[in-house]
Amino acid sequence: MPELRTKQATSLSATLCSLLALILAMIFSPAAHAEAFHLSAIDGELQLGGKMQYLPAPTQSTLSDVMGMDASEWYVTPSSTRSLGRDHNSVWFHLDIIGDESSQGPMVLRLDYPHYDYIDLYLVSDNKVLTSFHTGDQMDFETRPINSRTFTFPLDAIQNIGEAEIYVHIRTEGPLLIPFSLMTDAEATIQDRNLYMSLGAYFGILIIMFAYNAFILGSLRDSAYLYYLTYMVAVAFHQATLQGIGFQFLWPTNSPIENNFAVALSTALMQATAVLFVIRFIRLYKNFGSFERVMGTCLLVYSIALVIGSPFMDYASFLAIVNVTAAISVLCGLYIGVKGWRMGVKFARLFAMAWFTYLIFIGWYLLELASIIPASSLGEHSLAIGSALELALLSIAFADRINHEKELRLRSQSRLMDVQIAMNADLEEKVRQRTNQLEEANRRLKILSTTDGLTGLLNRRHFDECYEKAYLSACRRNEPLAVLMIDIDHFKHLNDEHGHRFGDICLIQAGRLIKETINDDQAIAARYGGEEFVVILPGATSEQARNKAEALRLAFAEYVVRDDDTAKIMTVSIGLTVDQPVDRAAWEKLLQAADSLLYTAKRNGRNQVAFLKESNS
Ligand code: GH3
Ligand code: MG
Ligand code: MG
Repeated sequence: MPELRTKQATSLSATLCSLLALILAMIFSPAAHAEAFHLSAIDGELQLGGKMQYLPAPTQSTLSDVMGMDASEWYVTPSSTRSLGRDHNSVWFHLDIIGDESSQGPMVLRLDYPHYDYIDLYLVSDNKVLTSFHTGDQMDFETRPINSRTFTFPLDAIQNIGEAEIYVHIRTEGPLLIPFSLMTDAEATIQDRNLYMSLGAYFGILIIMFAYNAFILGSLRDSAYLYYLTYMVAVAFHQATLQGIGFQFLWPTNSPIENNFAVALSTALMQATAVLFVIRFIRLYKNFGSFERVMGTCLLVYSIALVIGSPFMDYASFLAIVNVTAAISVLCGLYIGVKGWRMGVKFARLFAMAWFTYLIFIGWYLLELASIIPASSLGEHSLAIGSALELALLSIAFADRINHEKELRLRSQSRLMDVQIAMNADLEEKVRQRTNQLEEANRRLKILSTTDGLTGLLNRRHFDECYEKAYLSACRRNEPLAVLMIDIDHFKHLNDEHGHRFGDICLIQAGRLIKETINDDQAIAARYGGEEFVVILPGATSEQARNKAEALRLAFAEYVVRDDDTAKIMTVSIGLTVDQPVDRAAWEKLLQAADSLLYTAKRNGRNQVAFLKESNS
């Protein structure tokens, strides 16, 4: 499998790798030309770690310069690491081969890293250059002899001519990885096909997740999804750049996007969109304390500065800075996730797991790169796998977040409902109280408007209504109606002698005496004027009425009104009529008759009942 290495995480461990390379270089002292390789012996792929010679040389050095070098000045490439670090900007590589006709079809040399700036490759025999290639990611894609995202060179020119040499001059600003191998053209094609298939699967997953989340963004209108989508695009752009397929398929002429700039920009964009996304997703400014808020703001400002600064910064130092801070950012994301999780933000759990997963894959990648753990074909893709898993976990975290927020919404809705119910109950209670108060006030108002304040008997106005009804009812039922007109005797004198207040007390007692003596639910008793009262007895016979009138007169005459040291007996004169009403319009006449009988009683000496024998009954 081709060794896929990316510039991004590489530079993080570049120092480590350079150190290792140096140590190895010291162990493997400068060596003479190693033995030549028989191309015909290669079945499939031969990795060249530990088998090639290399020589750091000035950028301007030419083929003839290095061809003239003594064999002992060359170093052997280390087999335990695939990086020469970032200290070498210009390195020559050399390999002796022996070609013959028995080889397994056309052979190629593959430099399996898409980011060398310039490559000059010479196929030499008998100190003569038979073929040369000049390409690199700073030159147009069409300069490559074989159409591949990585650098592959045909060895036709030297394949069948016996002893030959390969010289490769690499100049690059980034780290110098050396996953070099000789392989059959068929093997190269198979490896390419496999790799394009995995990349297809990777970008396919990304596209599906993008579409799914874009759909959710459309329906939920939550800006966190927008940031998530931009982060996804940045990740895709970054991977496309790292894997060399951006250059191969999207901008094959090094314009408008220049390759080194694409690496820098995609890294910075990925970091900035990740920070933006994390802030929005986890609701940093709402859910977290000031430490996390300041941390988030600093990272955001820094990341945006990085994006803006990426076109202007020196590529090598840009990578050195960005890789350290990218690792810090991933750690911050993990910290925020764990913190949120512990704070009880439920969906932060999956969020933390997403970043943790990504971190594990980054760690795996770096450990392999530094040869601390053995290289594996899966490990080459660990960054891509890690990022895909991270994005998938984030998608699930989103679903969790939607659920969580739905729960919160439902809870607050039901709380609101409870409040509303309580408010309604309160309101109902208040309305009930007010209604009661109103009813009470109405009742009192009615009493006030229908009764006489002093005596508690009906007032004159209400009496008129009641009397009319009683009269008409008597007409209808053919029943008799008795009318008693009662007037306190010499009341003016009483008032004058004992004062108005005592007069009032007398009136109060008069009301009480009338009520108690009549003691009939059907009876209508009212204050008719100053000290004059009227009582209607519906259905009473003359005898019953006379008895009542007499009882009333007696009740007054026997009752002593007392106040302080005043004691007084009131007497009353009563005019009584009992009639069977027939004429509906004649109701007033009955009253007048009673009234005139009252005057008869007065005239006859007071303290007596005057009545006529009834005419109709
Ligand atoms: P008679 O025996 O002929 O009925 O003589 P009288 O004095 O009772 O009759 P008159 O109509 O001359 O006087 C009625 C008096 O009743 C006059 C007034 O001062 C008194 N009076 C009327 N209403 C009230 C009242 O609400 N309170 C008091 N204290 N006196 C009242
Ligand atoms: Mg009187
Ligand atoms: Mg009077």
